[in-house]
Amino acid sequence: MFKRPRKPKELAEQPEIPEGRWIKCPACKHLLYRGQLERTLWVCPFCGLHFRIPAETYARILLDEEPPPEKTDFSLVSADPLGFPEYREKLARAQKRTGLRDAAMVYAGHLEGLPVVLFTTDFRVLAGSMGSVVGEVFVRAARRAIHERKPFLALTASGGGARMQEGILALMQMAKTTVAVRELDEAGIPYINILTDPTMGGVMASFASLGDILIAEPGALLGFAGPRVIQQTIRQKLPRGFQRAEFLLEHGMVDLVVPRHRLKATLKNLLELVWEGG
Ligand SMILES: [Zn+2]
Repeated sequence: MFKRPRKPKELAEQPEIPEGRWIKCPACKHLLYRGQLERTLWVCPFCGLHFRIPAETYARILLDEEPPPEKTDFSLVSADPLGFPEYREKLARAQKRTGLRDAAMVYAGHLEGLPVVLFTTDFRVLAGSMGSVVGEVFVRAARRAIHERKPFLALTASGGGARMQEGILALMQMAKTTVAVRELDEAGIPYINILTDPTMGGVMASFASLGDILIAEPGALLGFAGPRVIQQTIRQKLPRGFQRAEFLLEHGMVDLVVPRHRLKATLKNLLELVWEGG
């Protein structure tokens, strides 16, 4: 068993791993050495807090090194269809900081020797929110999995949900990605969600909760509206751990809560159970 991580509110405002050789765990306040955290896959060895990590790091954790995974974002770039104030600037800053065009990236690689297609969202680009590009990349990745007859994995870190700067075009991606999940289903391709902290809003309400199997990382915040919004709306105190992965597991909303160091082995076991290949 893993320890249930405690998570302070302020972590919601701390999207990335801080710079420097020594990092203070925001949950238990222990001082951690960066090299040690890299070895524990960015999980605090004292309290089990799963730090938010870039999608690329997840790809390295989940996929085999050899043969090297093929990586694509289909060269798609978000337009600014509504002329939303500061959208272009925000996106440009995120692109410069991360080297990504948008929040989605697809890896075609192997998981313990088994060919898979892995779709990811990266929290560092506008909180991993889904605009027209993220939706389109998801659909193309799913169709690739169908065409090549490979299991399809979607790993999400999308605190932003549907991207408000693209308005209705972002909301439309919910329907579009849902149709792609249906296509996977009809083609008999296994589809597994890996929900990491946080996966919220229109992403959680569409493709991220439609997998055949839903796996969550310990302590991940998962849901539609955030707990603060719900609390203010219903004017009732929410139960402890509300919308955290373990709470959702107890209530049947996710199938498994799996610590990061066991994700790859768990996916391998599940795929062996549901997929005979080809
Ligand atoms: Zn800690």
